Amino acid sequence: MGVQEQYPFDVEALRADFPVLDRKVGGDPESPGEGPGDDTPLVYLDNAATSHTPDPVVDAISDYYRSYNANVHRGIHQLSQEASVAYEEAHDAVADFVGASGREEIVFTKNTTEAMNLVAYAWGLEELGPGDNVVLTEMEHHASLVTWQQIGKRTGADVRFIDVTDEGRLDMDDAAELIDDDTEMVSVVHVSNTLGTINPIGELTDLAHDRDALIFADGAQSVPNRPVDVKELGVDFFAFSAHKMCGPTGIGALYGREELLEEMQPYLYGGDMIRRVSFEDSTWEDLPWKFEAGTPSIAQGIAFAAAIEYLEEIGMDRVEAHEDLLAEYAYDELSALGGVEIYGPPGDDRGGLVAFNVEGVHAHDLSSILNDYGIAIRAGDHCTQPLHDEMGVSASARASFYLYNTVEEVDALVEAVGEARDLFA
Ligand code: PLP
Repeated sequence: MGVQEQYPFDVEALRADFPVLDRKVGGDPESPGEGPGDDTPLVYLDNAATSHTPDPVVDAISDYYRSYNANVHRGIHQLSQEASVAYEEAHDAVADFVGASGREEIVFTKNTTEAMNLVAYAWGLEELGPGDNVVLTEMEHHASLVTWQQIGKRTGADVRFIDVTDEGRLDMDDAAELIDDDTEMVSVVHVSNTLGTINPIGELTDLAHDRDALIFADGAQSVPNRPVDVKELGVDFFAFSAHKMCGPTGIGALYGREELLEEMQPYLYGGDMIRRVSFEDSTWEDLPWKFEAGTPSIAQGIAFAAAIEYLEEIGMDRVEAHEDLLAEYAYDELSALGGVEIYGPPGDDRGGLVAFNVEGVHAHDLSSILNDYGIAIRAGDHCTQPLHDEMGVSASARASFYLYNTVEEVDALVEAVGEARDLFA
């Protein structure tokens, strides 16, 4: 059976919802490096950085601005009430999507990064001190690594990193050793944005909870691509960004267990997050509004719910199956090419992305040549500089797949990578 015949849904029909995929870009592959052009079909394989936005989500944004644009929670008038209901209900949709108990457990943030900073500042600055430790992994994104590193410096807490094996998996023996009675927080990436590794969050949660530590999982690369249930995972905090899952930029979510969010002090102060203010003191609104100070990203929040509705209609099981199909195919075809080193584990515990280097070709040069073929990939350290140091390279190329990508696009990638390799040989 051909790979296309294994598609779990009609990919060609779905592509019609994403007009940007019909764009022509790229230079002339005959004269590489001559800059942008408009004669090559776009092959967009940079989805781990940002995914594209289908028409129903764009419509949700324009519908808000065209018909009920108003500030939330502040007006008695009809437009404000409509906007407030839609914005609040968007929290319910996100809660439902990841298995949270309700909107009390979902705080809208700017993105995953802000969600991490919220917990690090609001919880970490209060709870951490000398003698405590926070356990991360060597494959953390800078969003988590830099944040906890700096909170460690401010509080005196030690920040530790679980080793990554040569195959690109977490060394669980090292995890069991590093997580000890002084551990207060374990902060781990669910799916690595560089190695593609799907980490055993359930096991790490058990290790953390056995030592009375909390666990924060970074779901930026898992929630867009596979079914996720925060209660099943057992995590205390979880974060993700809408722009990687068919939604707009400027909005993301923090899941936090209700008791923890109740106990925590606010992160930002101002309007909307207060219940009563006097010259002497203030009290806070109920969850989640206590953590959403000032005018929020209203249109983006509403469109986040539209993105979730879009994904739910397809079904996250099928999104996952499609990505696995493409990632496995890309892994096999790139491996067969020769002269390509692929990072991260082969097999079932890999998400929908492949990072690699081509012998003799810097990742930036490769990305620039692929651009001439209309192929958008990412080159660099993917916000995992220390991991790249461990891998012994300064940069890698990364192709990442989403629900609208096709086998033909993977073929185009592999062919262009082969031609780039031959050009530099
Ligand atoms: N964590 C991981 C694993 C990521 O891949 C990313 C984005 O690439 C982030 C965190 C940060 O996401 P954002 O830039 O939306 O805050």
